[in-house]
Amino acid sequence: MKNQPRLWVIIPCYNEEEVLPVTAPLFLKELQDMIHEEKISPDSRILFVNDGSGDRTWELITSLSRQDEHYIGIEQSRNRGHQNAVLAGLMEAKDRCDITISIDCDGQDDIRAMGRMVDEYGKGCEIVYGVRSSRETDTWFKRNTAQGFYRFLNAMGAEVIYNHADYRLVSSRVLQHFADFKEVNIFLRGMFPLVGFKSTSVYYERHERMAGKSHYPLKKMLALAFDGITSLSTKPISIICGVGVAVSVIGFIGILWAIALAVTGKTVAGWASIVCIVCFLGGIQLLSLGIIGEYVGKTYLEAKHRPRYIISERTWEQSDPGRPENIRPEEQGDHGSEDSVTR
Ligand code: UDP
Ligand code: MG
Repeated sequence: MKNQPRLWVIIPCYNEEEVLPVTAPLFLKELQDMIHEEKISPDSRILFVNDGSGDRTWELITSLSRQDEHYIGIEQSRNRGHQNAVLAGLMEAKDRCDITISIDCDGQDDIRAMGRMVDEYGKGCEIVYGVRSSRETDTWFKRNTAQGFYRFLNAMGAEVIYNHADYRLVSSRVLQHFADFKEVNIFLRGMFPLVGFKSTSVYYERHERMAGKSHYPLKKMLALAFDGITSLSTKPISIICGVGVAVSVIGFIGILWAIALAVTGKTVAGWASIVCIVCFLGGIQLLSLGIIGEYVGKTYLEAKHRPRYIISERTWEQSDPGRPENIRPEEQGDHGSEDSVTR
């Protein structure tokens, strides 16, 4: 008989007492359908991560877990934000299942796309990104700010998949390596592409929230964009450096111009010297800041202690299973010559 993967669906919940009773049965139905279709193993689970809600969300989760064994839940000690809630769920799941799917609890992301994600996993993909095919149900404002968000992130050097939020399938194999990304400022959708492995996208329609209201107003979106850029890229520092060089060049031209005017006597006394000082200092200061920034940026990336490479395949794992090296080694470390993943 085919070995079905054990799936854990990871659902972050923050003050969701209105929507949870509506969506929880939908998640369960989808899970049971997939179990019936023999896509996933019968001991698959739906893991709710309560992100320090101030309402009755946790009581709802505990009562769900008494109703059906497929529902389980964990609680964060306080509200840490969506990204940390998903991370907590993923780390909880990584040694207990074969695949995880993270999805918001408000029913906006098409629950039925999970089956297609699992199919892609069956075809050998370790990460499957859920991508919104349209944003017609979002307000004009949300749609445009969100689109600007992805463009801006990519322009700033944080590579993210366009229109992919945090609806994605990740295998436990990828999570084992992901656990080595020890950074504290996390931006999951930009980090999984860094882990690598075979990946693909599944497209779905995004719906309206089934109940309750969004916890991602513009302020939080901007905070998330800022976190995404500063935790994935040091490009803003390079931009300062580039501007510093440009200002220095312009300043140099300014100095020549001021001297020329002074020599030809077309200025009042003292003007040329002031202009020279301003041009010189402006350029030098910005350039110096940029250079210091480059060092700070390098220190920042070093301080993350990200794994330097990740090995995705070993020949002996495919060949003779009886050979001694087939005793699963530490898959990550200082031995080997695979690609660098630190940037
Ligand atoms: N969420 C969370 N912690 C927070 C904010 C949100 O766990 O501090 C969860 C929330 O319960 C939902 C998901 O993150 O499941 C997405 O939030 P929301 O639907 O409010 O964002 P939007 O879809 O409007 O961007
Ligand atoms: Mg939502």
